Amino acid sequence: MIFVEQGALDRLAAYVPRPALVVMDDNTEAVAGARVARELGADVLCLPADLHATEDAAAQVREQLRDGLVAVGSGTLTDIVRYAAHSAGCDFVSVPTAASMDGYASSVAALERDGVKLTLPARAPASIFADPRIAAAAPIELTRAGIGDMLAKTTARVDWLAAHLLYGEDWRALQPLPEPDVAALLAGDVEAVAGLLRALIESGLAMAAVGSSRPASGCEHHASHFWDLLAGRGARPRALHGLQVGYATGFAMRLQRFAFGGGVALPRRPQPVAEPLDAAARAWLGEPPPDVLVAIAEKQRLIAAVPASWPDEETRWAALRVRLEPSLQRFDAVADALRRAGIPDLEAGYLGIDAAMLRAGLRYGARLRSRYTVVDFLEGQGVLDEALDFAL
Ligand SMILES: [Zn+2]
Repeated sequence: MIFVEQGALDRLAAYVPRPALVVMDDNTEAVAGARVARELGADVLCLPADLHATEDAAAQVREQLRDGLVAVGSGTLTDIVRYAAHSAGCDFVSVPTAASMDGYASSVAALERDGVKLTLPARAPASIFADPRIAAAAPIELTRAGIGDMLAKTTARVDWLAAHLLYGEDWRALQPLPEPDVAALLAGDVEAVAGLLRALIESGLAMAAVGSSRPASGCEHHASHFWDLLAGRGARPRALHGLQVGYATGFAMRLQRFAFGGGVALPRRPQPVAEPLDAAARAWLGEPPPDVLVAIAEKQRLIAAVPASWPDEETRWAALRVRLEPSLQRFDAVADALRRAGIPDLEAGYLGIDAAMLRAGLRYGARLRSRYTVVDFLEGQGVLDEALDFAL
């Protein structure tokens, strides 16, 4: 059951088995956590607000499990509980406190291991209870981040459709993305925030239905994972996921416009990158952890399996571009919405991401996941540098 409405929390008692454990953090305790725990007569696990989503944090939750499990919080906290519920094989209920990201309904969790963010299988919540008044009163940066994560679906969806058209990857049509009313959202309008929350939850449901983050995460997310890596090393400050993916989206749209809107005359059959971890890549990635090596090998295999339908012929290429054209037509409106949300789409330096990190994020982010994106397409065409020059 999903309730996004005023008073939604009053319904919790009917859905949560007792005795229960309510997991919250220092920030969400005051806005909803303490009240939820009191009403359920539940035990409380209050985590530090700056905690990272790691397997250790999930283990803390697992140690205190009761019959019912409730997560009161936004991205990181929900990921911790979602992963704990998955590894313990139990259900949990989500109480979102901010419209900051689309992971609430999702069945995958972004966890950090060795400083690298991984997307791991996790539990989707049995129910979601969100009072939009709580989310509307959350710090404005969180709502801004939610707008960024929502707008990031634009390029994620193009990457998915392109992978389907180029490589025959499984794909399904999704509901059209809503146009966020940025001004109302930033003004804390409860109805607008309710709409954003619903759209974000919807995106999580799409991920759960597909069984992966593919519908919601493409090269813009890979760039964000790369910037997280730099933050883990202290090269730049940590920043909210939604702001990072929103920032990457502006540049990713131009990469996609280059790829499918005229920059590539006729795609040749791609060759896997000769040396995916050359000196330049290693200068950024260091000695990659095993998960990244697996992702790189998997992607090399994927790229090498060029289907007979590869569009190296005029009619097929034109037909493919026609399928992508409606998405590309939305790009100007999305760039405009990003700017109105205060997320720049042209200049380097936002969130401590300088020009070199920006370029490296778009390029080497592609090494962190096996998922095929426009970056891999451009690299396979030998025009990635040219496209990055166009995008940055
Ligand atoms: Zn996201």
